[in-house]
Amino acid sequence: MHNKSLSELSASLHQGDFTSAELTQHYLDRINKYNGELNAFITVADEHALKQAEAADLRLQQKTAGKLTGIPLAHKDIFCTQGLRTSSASKMLDNFISPYDATVVEKINAAGMVTLGKTNMDEFAMGSSNETSFYGPVKNPWDLERVPGGSSGGSAATMAARLAPIATGTDTGGSIRQPASLCNLTGLKPTYGRVSRYGMIAFASSLDQAGPLAASAEDAALLLNEMAGFDERDSTSVERDVPDYTATLSDSLQGLKIGLPKEFFDEGLDSDVAATIETAIKMYESLGATIREITLPNSALAVPTYYVVAPAECSSNLSRMDGVRFGHRCDEPKDLDDLYARSRGEGFGEEVKRRIMMGTYALSAGYYDAYYLKAQQCRRLISDDFKQAFKEVDVIMGPTAPTTAFKTGEKTDDPIAMYLADIYTISTNLAGLPGMSIPAGFVNGLPVGLQLIGNYFEEAKLLNIAHLYQQATNWHQQVPDAFQ
Ligand code: GLN
Repeated sequence: MHNKSLSELSASLHQGDFTSAELTQHYLDRINKYNGELNAFITVADEHALKQAEAADLRLQQKTAGKLTGIPLAHKDIFCTQGLRTSSASKMLDNFISPYDATVVEKINAAGMVTLGKTNMDEFAMGSSNETSFYGPVKNPWDLERVPGGSSGGSAATMAARLAPIATGTDTGGSIRQPASLCNLTGLKPTYGRVSRYGMIAFASSLDQAGPLAASAEDAALLLNEMAGFDERDSTSVERDVPDYTATLSDSLQGLKIGLPKEFFDEGLDSDVAATIETAIKMYESLGATIREITLPNSALAVPTYYVVAPAECSSNLSRMDGVRFGHRCDEPKDLDDLYARSRGEGFGEEVKRRIMMGTYALSAGYYDAYYLKAQQCRRLISDDFKQAFKEVDVIMGPTAPTTAFKTGEKTDDPIAMYLADIYTISTNLAGLPGMSIPAGFVNGLPVGLQLIGNYFEEAKLLNIAHLYQQATNWHQQVPDAFQ
């Protein structure tokens, strides 16, 4: 059951080959069997899931079911779920049970999907290895000594080990695409504004976007159909029709113009990863595409710009975690200042504190112009590079990450080395563009992801480009031996 596509699962549910309750139990059993070693889930929602499955089975019987009704999924623990803990992998929210559902969760529930549980992640989505979680690191199913990537590492490990048919993630600087790359998955970060951020615990509000982590482009398209759309509760969500993302999956790529930014193939890129990416790009030539080198001249500004903008926004977003309204509160505070200081001191982990301090500094009077304003100017330059590039090409391709999965603990003492794991993904978020990572091969048994970057709202085109590659290759179908 766990190697079927969403379409196959849907057909089986509709034909009555098995019920949603049986399918859900199958995945809950897999989670119970493997979560101990992977640490992919923070909360397993057995009871909640079986109840949803029962309701889905009723819809299936009554012929009121949609395409995804009865199919289980896992949500990153950043999406608020009514009645189920939402921790954002922080001690601060260890006891937080949201009184409402995030829009993404609400829409997916309305489609009749079944929530298996909430997946582990870097604390407040800050990280590239899933090692900053209060609940401990997540293991990569391809090699348990290595990280799954981050921050959506729990969703990625879940998918790599096939503990769910599909999962949600969020991407502020690469957190869907980079773990997709390290775990052999198809991950899509939509255009900023395509998916509602309402009820998604904010990290950096001008960069955060939710999207699917899937086994294939077709599966990602099916989930995006449910996730995307305008939401009046998110003032940055865009009022624009949602196409059927599956309708154009098989369109021809004849004449597609692919741009390869020379800055994405610099000395920081592992040579075996580079060779794998080059092979993948040759495959696109055989599918009818033409390749040209392009330049994104301000690429070097992306990481420093991001590490001013994202911390600035997080320092502001996380100020609500004050020990008063919700979340962790210290014992026996002496006075209000002590309550704030100790609740926050105890509730936040080291990386989160580092970001809050960097952000508060960058926003403080006297430094605002030098850092925050300057970063916003750099952000514009980065967006303009893409605008220029998309005058010449239809899609931009390159590596998703500079290396394959690294060892747990390898970069934890060196934040800058960790920050560089997202060197090729961050500029997409700064520009608000859609980006994907798709499986493109292996280096020493570890997956390599090919990144696709599209123009605004061209998710359908990216999915089409990914799908045709997946019709011609079988990288995306590979599952680690231990989790077959
Ligand atoms: N790794 C980046 C960071 O630590 C991106 C995280 C993300 O996309 N949520 O901020």
